[in-house]
Amino acid sequence: MNDDLKALIRTIPDFPKPGIQFRDITTLLLDPAGYATTIDRMVRATIGKVDLVAGIEARGFLFAAALAVPLNAGVLLIRKDGKLPGATIAEDYALEYGQDRIAMHEDALVPGQRVLLVDDLIATGGTARAAIRLLRKAGATVDQVQFVVDLPDLGGADALRAGGVRVDSLIR
Ligand code: 5GP
Repeated sequence: MNDDLKALIRTIPDFPKPGIQFRDITTLLLDPAGYATTIDRMVRATIGKVDLVAGIEARGFLFAAALAVPLNAGVLLIRKDGKLPGATIAEDYALEYGQDRIAMHEDALVPGQRVLLVDDLIATGGTARAAIRLLRKAGATVDQVQFVVDLPDLGGADALRAGGVRVDSLIR
């Protein structure tokens, strides 16, 4: 299923470092029909009324923004710490070596708003889990997360599901 979209993703070996097989979605973005189909399937996978679609920098923005328009939702930017101009709240998360920090504007949402979190790909799920913690700290309801690509062997999506969040992805 969804082999049509899978064929539009290419694998770049040894990026960003030796041994990593990087799934490159820029080729999907270059294909008008493939990009449109991706957004259409994400719209149809969305459950219920969404107030805001949150995208994770940077590739997540490309799907969050396009999805927000047909959902009649706003777009909330989750960025690397230090990039947003206003007052922010932040969340740390562990990387394979070291840690990273993502941030959002502290006044980006009204407590109780329902936020759909979107990113291009889930691997270990560390980024998505930090984004969910961040959104909930701001008062959001987060009960669905969508990815274009899931790397199921890394267990990130299953870990989110175990935490009670609905996870949808188009390509495994
Ligand atoms: P995780 O936190 O789930 O381990 O990694 C997911 C995050 O890293 C996402 O924000 C995603 O954009 C990025 N990422 C990790 N590996 C890949 C990959 O192979 N391809 C793409 N496109 N993004 C990746």
